Parts: sequence; structure tokens; C-alpha cells
Amino acid sequence: MDRQNSTKAYEGYTRQENTADMFKEFNATQLYCPRCKQAVPVRKRLLLVLPEGDKYVYLCAFCSETVGTKMDRNRAQDSIIV
Ligand SMILES: [Zn+2]
Repeated sequence: MDRQNSTKAYEGYTRQENTADMFKEFNATQLYCPRCKQAVPVRKRLLLVLPEGDKYVYLCAFCSETVGTKMDRNRAQDSIIV
């Protein structure tokens, strides 16, 4: 009986964490679209793979306008140091 109770509690905790993560990501990917004239959800698409990192482009989910780019500097710097 004790084991069953603790398993249920753990499942509830995990689900809460996942929801929080998704919400955080959703907020982070709201960008202003000049064509829609409002903040819109965006699609992240890998544009270029460069030695210093991956370059991503953010596209408006409604009209596919490019609303921003982002450089993800992986662990390249760490690798060089090590
Ligand atoms: Zn748009």
C-alpha cells in the first residue's frame, strides 16, 4: 500500500514539472512578427551548422515570416578548453 501511494505522488510531481517546462518554452518562443503586427508563436528551424555553433531561424507560425535568428553555441568552447 505504501509503495502504491508514493508512486502516485511521484507521477503527479513529474507531470507538474513537464507542464512548467512546456509553458516556459512557449513563452520564450513568442516573438513580434512585423507582418502579423503582433507577438506570435514561432517555429524554430535549423539554418546553418557552423564550427562555433548552430544557427537557428525563427519563423512566424501563421505567415512563415522570419522574425528572428539565434546562435546556439553548443559545447564547442568547452571542448576547446578541455
Ligand atoms: Zn506572421
